[in-house]
Amino acid sequence: MLSQLCTKFRSTSYNLATVSKNITMPSTPRRTFFLPGDNNGPVGLYNDRDYWKGKGFVLDENAKKALEEYIAIQSKTYDSLEKKYGVSADLWRNADYRLIADQRPPIKVAVTGVAGAIGYALLWRIASGSLFGPTVPVSLHLLELPAILPKVKGVEMELRDSAFPVLKDIVITDNAEKAFEGVDYALLVGAQPRTAGMERADLLLKNAEIFATQGKALNRAAKGKDTRVLVVGNPANTNALIAQRNAPNIPPENFSAITRLDHNRGLAQLKLKTGATLNDIEKFVIWGNHSATQFPDVSYTLINGKPAREVLNDDNWVEKTFIPCVQKRGAEVIAARGSSSAASAASALIDGTRDWHYGTQNKWTSAAVYSNGEYGITKGLYFSYPVIYQGKKATIVKDLQISEYQREKLKATEKELLQERDGVAKHLPN
Ligand code: NDP
Repeated sequence: MLSQLCTKFRSTSYNLATVSKNITMPSTPRRTFFLPGDNNGPVGLYNDRDYWKGKGFVLDENAKKALEEYIAIQSKTYDSLEKKYGVSADLWRNADYRLIADQRPPIKVAVTGVAGAIGYALLWRIASGSLFGPTVPVSLHLLELPAILPKVKGVEMELRDSAFPVLKDIVITDNAEKAFEGVDYALLVGAQPRTAGMERADLLLKNAEIFATQGKALNRAAKGKDTRVLVVGNPANTNALIAQRNAPNIPPENFSAITRLDHNRGLAQLKLKTGATLNDIEKFVIWGNHSATQFPDVSYTLINGKPAREVLNDDNWVEKTFIPCVQKRGAEVIAARGSSSAASAASALIDGTRDWHYGTQNKWTSAAVYSNGEYGITKGLYFSYPVIYQGKKATIVKDLQISEYQREKLKATEKELLQERDGVAKHLPN
């Protein structure tokens, strides 16, 4: 089994490590692993640097379950799975993901603005199994504006024509309550784009109306504490705030605005600059707003276990090239390809949602989450912090040293968020 796994994961050497009494997995100092639900298999094998330091291995419940399934399929120990999950051993024996997916209730995912550029890139990733893996069925609840619904019909046809095994059901509607009925995840992508001559304040208010309406609909129709909401439509942090304040039945911790694209952009630049693999880069963080005031911060970043500032040995590059590049990457992509960074935004949304569902196994990522005043930021804002996901909860990394330099950057991006918040005050009940 291990050699099969290693072939699959292109590893040539391994040791055997017992992770729990049910799971054995190949472990190797070569950190070539995939996250759960990755295109490369039903589950990713995840190797944490801390594991090698003998600190133990932490697997989130969902990741553990997915890993168990995959190992059982590979090792042909199906009977244990039949007992544990009530799915017939024959299905596992045939490793028929399609049938396994058919036996389970789907995860319901609402997506708004589905006829837009991000929506088009996103839906195929969700429906193909990239989000939750090929044994986990999904139902898509697609929300669009009434005038755009005919276009969504075409999207639906294409989705059905793709014959994805995990795509159980598609609901199309222009009614937000219907779209959010019983959903586990709501991915709020649709937003009013800025048109020629439109003032920023008008754009804020136009979007405030949309997200207040959607917040109310989520409040009435979604699964309350079991629904998670990820906002992409800009201004994403403030739109998350508006939706949350209009949805008192859903805990504020269940809302988030996506800064994962900014995070990924930072990682990509560090990889290009140093030649390190992505697995070698840890503890990078985006602070603040998903806008040009965000602060991409390498203060705690380790590259191959060494402080990034030491590895880079070039503060000028960090200040003058790296930070502005990450902050303004969206505009750079538009200038180059003539349209916005929709595919990478969709990909980042997949990454962020998957992390929330499966956990990050103790690794840091960045997300704009509800502030309880951490690091002196105003309580109630959605502010991007370093977070660890586990058990479907985002925990802000605490007790980091903040220098004067960092404090200034945090305050600048907080100031913008406060201005945005004040600009939409009439849409913020409670
Ligand atoms: P996109 O699909 O390209 O973008 C959607 C939103 O995501 C925009 O607010 C955009 O912000 C934001 N965004 C965040 N990060 C990124 C990124 N890295 N790259 C690109 N966009 C990013 O917009 P489209 O105009 O193509 O489509 C929007 C769709 O939403 C339309 O089909 C429209 O009908 C729909 N819509 C639906 C609503 C609803 O369901 N009630 C309400 C309003 C619109 P930015 O504009 O700053 O790039």
